[in-house]
Amino acid sequence: MKFISTRNSNHSVNFSHAVKKGLAADGGLYYPIHIPKLSKDFFDHITTYHKVEIATQALLPYVNEEMDRSSLEQIVDETLAFNIPLVHVKENIYSLELYHGPTQAFKDVGARFMSRSLAYFNEESDVHILVATSGDTGSAVANGFYDIPGIKVHILFPKDKVSNYQQYQMTSLGKNIRAYEVDGNFDDCQKIVKQAFGDKALNEKLTISSANSINIARLLPQMTYYFLAYQQIKKLGIDKNIVISVPSGNLGNITAGLIGKHMGLPIKRFISSHNANDTFVKYLQDGNYQPIQSVQTLSNAMDVGAPSNIERIDTLYTDINDLRKDVSGYSFDDKITLNKISEEYHQQDYLLDPHGAVGILGLEQDINVDELGIFLETAHPQKFASVIRQAIPSYKVEIPDLSNCHKTSINNDYNAFIDALLS
Ligand SMILES: *Cc1c(COP(=O)(O)O)cnc(C)c1O
Repeated sequence: MKFISTRNSNHSVNFSHAVKKGLAADGGLYYPIHIPKLSKDFFDHITTYHKVEIATQALLPYVNEEMDRSSLEQIVDETLAFNIPLVHVKENIYSLELYHGPTQAFKDVGARFMSRSLAYFNEESDVHILVATSGDTGSAVANGFYDIPGIKVHILFPKDKVSNYQQYQMTSLGKNIRAYEVDGNFDDCQKIVKQAFGDKALNEKLTISSANSINIARLLPQMTYYFLAYQQIKKLGIDKNIVISVPSGNLGNITAGLIGKHMGLPIKRFISSHNANDTFVKYLQDGNYQPIQSVQTLSNAMDVGAPSNIERIDTLYTDINDLRKDVSGYSFDDKITLNKISEEYHQQDYLLDPHGAVGILGLEQDINVDELGIFLETAHPQKFASVIRQAIPSYKVEIPDLSNCHKTSINNDYNAFIDALLS
């Protein structure tokens, strides 16, 4: 499989190049030159396979020019070394709990796969991974790359806009992990990282790579849990009219699901559920992509006003009317989100995190009685303890101890970052 830039289909690279570079030289995102189809037989028999087998089948067509099957199997086995249960919440609604990994958010899947792929391909002694985070990516990447020889990780997170728990996970490890607190928002952090990739002088000095959801090795493995969700649903005797709601920010997670659908995964349609950052919802409505300044909400990992992966979605769907058939979008404010957390806790005894709450809201907005709905529970409620306590005052909050943590505080300025990086 070759990978092309979303901005130039004439220039293709192989998987290892795309993984190491992160972003294409023209500023586009890497994207598979075609989407392979899996056989009907595979889906018919999916309940009989082990999860490693399922994930390997889904990923092999993308990497098989450069990675043999058993190496991929081993990476997948390590990546998915935790449970991804499908939990019944009520009536026709299920929660796919993606938070049982080491940093308690779905981003563990992409980060673990990417770190191992990079280690597999890496021939250099000193690779610098740059990553902008709205919270969960930073901790997942820090954990995924911690103590891997030859790799240094630089995490940029927005000041005062991540939870204590997230900050703790990013700043407590030390060693090859360095965290920068940027006096700005997530989009500012992302802008600095993108600028670094276009910076010729810097690229001559250092080998840099990205670990954001823009990296193809983060995106593709996220496909696998949609397959695993389907397997679990099929075990219950249901295999059609499945609707999945994805709490979305930078749109990596839903893009992975849509790629899975194009590979033949029998998902009827998707719902993209957003907080007040509704750029994609508006895009679905009027076909106009109008990035906004991100606004801060309680579901901070989705505070993205200019979602990068829209470029990949546009590559997958050249006609917006086709996209509208597969995806609908909704946005919910913080008040509704808090009410939802409280309501499900008191009525169903199910504790949602603020992102999952947005996910179930989108699902309930748009599910029919003959459909089966799954929302992705993208993070553990504990990561957002102060939000949970706003919704459920009796909830007990553990405050992590940040006193031994290390971060570098910088202005929202590219040169300030470079100075700190090189110092
Ligand atoms: C990153 C994240 C999201 C948004 O995922 P995207 O791929 O950026 O759309 C949602 N929920 C949680 C908990 C996250 O960490």
